[in-house]
Amino acid sequence: MNKVAVFGSFVVDLMARSPHLPVPGETVKGSMFKMGPGGKGFNQCVAAHKAGADVVMITKLGRDNFANVALDTMDELNMPKDHILFSDMTETGIALILVDENTSQNEIIIVPGACNTITEEEVKGIESVIKESEYVLLQLEVNQNANEMVVDMANQHGCKVIVNTAPYVPISDSFLSKVYMVTPNEVEAESMTGIAVKDLESGKQAAKFFHDKGIEIVVITLGSRGVFVSYDGKAEIIPAFKVNAVDTTGAGDAFNGGLLAALAEGKDIWEAVRFANALAAISVQRLGTTPSMPERWEIDAFLEAHN
Ligand code: ADP
Repeated sequence: MNKVAVFGSFVVDLMARSPHLPVPGETVKGSMFKMGPGGKGFNQCVAAHKAGADVVMITKLGRDNFANVALDTMDELNMPKDHILFSDMTETGIALILVDENTSQNEIIIVPGACNTITEEEVKGIESVIKESEYVLLQLEVNQNANEMVVDMANQHGCKVIVNTAPYVPISDSFLSKVYMVTPNEVEAESMTGIAVKDLESGKQAAKFFHDKGIEIVVITLGSRGVFVSYDGKAEIIPAFKVNAVDTTGAGDAFNGGLLAALAEGKDIWEAVRFANALAAISVQRLGTTPSMPERWEIDAFLEAHN
């Protein structure tokens, strides 16, 4: 198994439910509060780690109590903490998530905090990790100039870069041209390419946009419809597993972590997508984000049962 890395965000999710969402100026008495680890980078790393990957998390925390939410979770899960960076100036990131308990509608404010302040020097400090990793997985939730430095470093050392283009923000062609694989969801794919992926044909058109920029593998997740994959002149929609979904938040994170874990084991892209689909299908049947990520034995059993 090859080593891999996730370079990305950590935020503490602060979730409150209330009978309705407050309008400006209003205070609403809530019915429930829950705090836990979050951030796309962290969620994806937890998914990959629980799936059995030898994966290193690189993120940046503040020197505050919220940092312990990350550190305690990593201890519980036995994840290596050697490449966690700390800011003396900026607090650990947070996401305020308000949920209407009747409609499930939500309002979210993300303050990425420390993980949005990763410096050039800090990126230089992780060169040894990038050098020994076969893949590094990025998202768009940290300061983009840090991502750009990581991509250059990865290319220098033959480490392949996977970019989960979430949450979508415009990114440069020069950045995209240095990326090996992109994994947008359908909304992000449409924002980037202008093409709504409705079927195999429109998928191919969207994929062309990315291939023309120099990207080798295009993976577009389509929720319960599955995943569009384009690689080496072959394009396919691999269906999702049919399950009873109860909470699809973090489905994309589950999928990306699973993809990374499978690729690290040397599975080809088609097999890796099937594995990632299984991981995500298990996670959407459970509440929560990191707690919903399955252990490796559960993924193997699921795949066996759905053969
Ligand atoms: P995001 O969470 O980024 O919007 P998607 O909704 O595309 O991502 O979901 C990512 C992947 O999770 C899908 O490609 C699929 O493998 C899996 N998935 C999502 N929703 C379901 C569902 N209802 N049933 C089974 N698998 C699902």
